[in-house]
Amino acid sequence: FSFGLVVLSTRQFLWALGVSSVAAIVVFAGISGDIGFPIKTLYGRTILLLVFLLTLGRCVALSMYVSGLRTSLTKKNKALWESHKQIEELASHDELTSVANRRSLMIFLLAEKTRADRTGSKLCVAIFDLDHFKSVNDKFGHLVGDKALKEFAATTCSVLRETDQFGRLGGEEFLLVLPFTSLDGAMIPLERIRTAVNEKAWNQLHDGLTLTVSVGVSEYRKSETIEQLLERADSALYTPKLGGRNRIVTAA
Ligand code: GH3
Ligand code: MG
Ligand code: MG
Repeated sequence: FSFGLVVLSTRQFLWALGVSSVAAIVVFAGISGDIGFPIKTLYGRTILLLVFLLTLGRCVALSMYVSGLRTSLTKKNKALWESHKQIEELASHDELTSVANRRSLMIFLLAEKTRADRTGSKLCVAIFDLDHFKSVNDKFGHLVGDKALKEFAATTCSVLRETDQFGRLGGEEFLLVLPFTSLDGAMIPLERIRTAVNEKAWNQLHDGLTLTVSVGVSEYRKSETIEQLLERADSALYTPKLGGRNRIVTAA
């Protein structure tokens, strides 16, 4: 019955209980004399001692079994928690740069748009596009290109404000969502990022490597869609890409 507690189903357990109860009734009903411990003879005492020892041994074995079960359950729970964390990380972060991926950026942006609609607070988005990135790959190879993307993300994160959400849209394009920020206010952190990227010692990554970023920024207009807001920031990028680059341009 002790082992039955952990290995039998309720149905099996009830069956075992029923069968052993019937057996006990039959035995007890069939004995006419006294029922007691056989302690009068050495043989009886030895049997009794064995019963005590076996019962004790069973209790110890059961405790060890349950404790083993608990240890393996704890291990499995830990492994499950770790793989859950890993899945969550993969689902919300970009594998190469470790910043937020497009999916979690859009979730954040939708929440901030909803807040801006409700409270009338300001909201800006900025799209970053690395300049001449194709030629970085062409000149220095794809691996250096990948390292440059990682370094760009790390450099940007190091100068970010805590309330802003930064992530990778895809390729060499990144997005920064700036809640409670007007266009004028957005220029301050954006200029800080642009300068940090421009002044970074990229040649430490590879001889001759330089990198700049162009930025298109737009401020949310009440009840426009997220697609329209991003489209305006993306369109603003045409201006620096047509001439100059390494600039921040605000959307009309
Ligand atoms: P522009 O200044 O006009 O933005 O020029 P560009 O070369 O940056 O623009 P284009 O869109 O022509 O090229 C983007 C390049 O980014 C092409 C692609 O090889 C590179 N790229 C995109 N994703 C990755 C990546 O994950 N790793 C590497 N190494 N390169 C990437
Ligand atoms: Mg691009
Ligand atoms: Mg580019």
